Amino acid sequence: MNFDLSPELASARRAVRAFMDEHVIPVEERIIAEDERGLNPETLLSLQARARSEGLWVPHLPTEWGGRGFGPMGMCVLFREMGRSLVGARVFNCDAPDQGNMDLLLRVASPEARDRWLGPLARAEITSAFAMTEPAPGAGADPTNLRTTARLDGESWVIDGHKWYTTGGAQAAVLIVMARTSDDPRKGATLFLVDRDAPGVELVREIPTFGPPLLQHREAEFRFHGVRVGHEQLLGGVGDGFRLAQARLVPARLTHCMRWLGLADRTVALSRRYVQERVSFGKTLDKHQLVQKVFADAATAIHAGNLMAFHCAWLLEQGRDIEARPYSSMCKNHVASLLCRTLDDAMQLHGGLGYSDDVPFGRWYRHARAARIADGPDEVHTMTVGRDTIAGTFDLLV
Ligand SMILES: Cc1cc2nc3c(=O)[nH]c(=O)nc-3n(C[C@H](O)[C@H](O)[C@H](O)COP(=O)(O)OP(=O)(O)OC[C@H]3O[C@@H](n4cnc5c(N)ncnc54)[C@H](O)[C@@H]3O)c2cc1C
Repeated sequence: MNFDLSPELASARRAVRAFMDEHVIPVEERIIAEDERGLNPETLLSLQARARSEGLWVPHLPTEWGGRGFGPMGMCVLFREMGRSLVGARVFNCDAPDQGNMDLLLRVASPEARDRWLGPLARAEITSAFAMTEPAPGAGADPTNLRTTARLDGESWVIDGHKWYTTGGAQAAVLIVMARTSDDPRKGATLFLVDRDAPGVELVREIPTFGPPLLQHREAEFRFHGVRVGHEQLLGGVGDGFRLAQARLVPARLTHCMRWLGLADRTVALSRRYVQERVSFGKTLDKHQLVQKVFADAATAIHAGNLMAFHCAWLLEQGRDIEARPYSSMCKNHVASLLCRTLDDAMQLHGGLGYSDDVPFGRWYRHARAARIADGPDEVHTMTVGRDTIAGTFDLLV
């Protein structure tokens, strides 16, 4: 087992870390303020231009799409650095949901669909969204509850349905919509590339959520009223929807983990200073063993999360996607909960200051809490891991 990074990846990691420290973190509040006030996102745009000129743009994409072709292992290394700020991934065009959507387009879209959507997405000229989840009783933790339908009518498919939690949907140019095309339990769903402005696409609202809206992280609700799409707008084949959604979600949830590990790491780093300076009961907080335990637990959990993410990325890099599934579920549950716990602990360690908006932990927690629900809630991943462990389908002593 070799944990060395290739010279190219090690150098890209140094470059992304320095870029984050020197250019992104000092202006992250300005980027958030411009976004909250609906101003021209000039700070973000200028940093994106700089990231492009320094060769750090979409590093996970192949070179013909403007990237560096680093693949899942490289993403693990670089996305953790970007994730140290909520706005970091967007600066390098590596944020959800575009990054996962680009990955899916790259794998399964027709050459025409790639030219139409992947090029502009890779250049950040447009954004995209993924519309699978529906309000109850439709698709949610269990995607097979899918209610949105697509039926063939002459030369086109006609989509009718109701979706919500389509992240970034209101701003997106293209929606990847999952719809039912038959009652087959395994092959009953199909993915369609739907023009956001197509007739019949109704944006109902942006859902007010616990985490404040930030950049593309705005949750849209849609209704589709007889939306017509051609065969060329199919993503993959008819009936491939459930399989492709898994193919998208396994790496996409892993890239979430990478970014979350970065945020957890920064939370620990920010917490050090207060405990080293604040005196309580005759000594600084860092000399109290209960406080040391909080840091030990966070360090251990982050280290375990790093190893889980690397192992899973290593499987994906070799195309062993099916094998990667239980590991990606373990990693997602572990990292989502460690992020929430680390942020909650940081608030506790800072006392009243931790509860205030003078420190970022409260805001970050509001975003982080979604990690235990989005891309499959904790319980569903636990179910997958439990089921596969009982069936003995994967090796615990890898
Ligand atoms: C911030 C955010 C962004 C999102 N972005 C997107 C997006 O871009 N595109 C998209 O399609 N979806 C998106 N989602 C939706 C997300 O994937 C779903 O919320 C999630 O899969 C759960 O589905 P549900 O909300 O319908 O919960 P339900 O299916 O109603 O489940 C409710 C709860 O029941 C419990 N539960 C469910 N199944 C089991 C089980 N087998 N055993 C025990 N308990 C169980 C869990 O606690 C679960 O949280 C997003 C969600 C959030 C919060």
